[in-house]
Amino acid sequence: MESLLDRLGRPLETLRVSITDRCNFRCVYCMPKEVFGRDYAFLDRRELLTLEEVARVAGVFAGLGVRTVRITGGEPLVRRNVEHLVELLAAIRRPDGSGLDLALTTNGSLLAQKAEALAAAGLGRVTVSLDSLDDAAFATLNDVDFPVERVLEGIEAAAAAGLPVKVNAVVKRGTNDGDVLGLAEHFRGSGHVLRFIEYMDVGSTNGWRLEDVVPAEEIVRRIGERWPLVPLPAERPDATSRRWRYADGAGEIGAIASVTQPFCGGCSRARLSAEGRLYTCLFAARGHDLRAPLRSGGSDEELAELLHSVWGRRTDRYSELRTAETPALPKVEMSYIGG
Ligand code: SAM
Repeated sequence: MESLLDRLGRPLETLRVSITDRCNFRCVYCMPKEVFGRDYAFLDRRELLTLEEVARVAGVFAGLGVRTVRITGGEPLVRRNVEHLVELLAAIRRPDGSGLDLALTTNGSLLAQKAEALAAAGLGRVTVSLDSLDDAAFATLNDVDFPVERVLEGIEAAAAAGLPVKVNAVVKRGTNDGDVLGLAEHFRGSGHVLRFIEYMDVGSTNGWRLEDVVPAEEIVRRIGERWPLVPLPAERPDATSRRWRYADGAGEIGAIASVTQPFCGGCSRARLSAEGRLYTCLFAARGHDLRAPLRSGGSDEELAELLHSVWGRRTDRYSELRTAETPALPKVEMSYIGG
């Protein structure tokens, strides 16, 4: 099947869908409590796309070549009946008759309860965010006193349900950079791939500063000094993560270096907000409304045409153009657009 290409020749292959802008954590680098407090105006239920609407949009994307749909948020597992959405997405067929690669990103807090149902509904894999194994450091980061143990239980429940698990850790200088080796040690030999994410200037509420970023190179060097590492080839041309394996065979780690080694050149990701706005970059300021055409009787063909024209005009490459000034630009929040 011929790929739909943007203005820079990048194919449309992945759709990330935020199904809620709400979260039960208040991670300091994502949803700081001072901003996302009691008075914060989250989307109203009627504003959210229904699960059926999300599946319909995903079906149109699949028809345009999308292979992977990642469910995210906010915290996707706080949305009621997310298993049903997985079922609907698992039923979608691409033009060649294959199904979608279905992934979910979660903070893991509700995973122990939901893993089995998600796997049974057809989820293919899960990414769990966990930034520290130290309860005090983790509580400082999630800012709701959530214990590490419960996230670890979620990870184990997902693995027990047969879901491949990746673990993502955002590293912020002076907050959890001392936990890098502890995380690596814990997940070595576990079968779960641990990936470190550079702290990014997403949104405009987290007070991002370049000096808070721990470059992936530094993280990988520190781990490699303790347990020698061997570089691995990228999984796919549009992969976000660079990969290494432990020379002693204890598994694999990854690094997502969006700040110091941007990967816009291979970015094949479209993002759909919970209220149905389509964004072509994580750092975008504006999206394209899909909810209006969805709710005013637009046909799938009309939707496909709209997506085609939005992707065809796409030139975003924020991370490659990042300067000292760009972090101050207005940008959509990550909790709204999805990670
Ligand atoms: N609630 C889910 C979770 O915690 O995984 C899904 C949404 S969350 C926005 C997705 C991912 O984005 C998480 O791994 C989170 O740590 C990461 N993230 C959020 N803000 C970030 C930032 N400023 N820099 C780097 N990663 C960030």
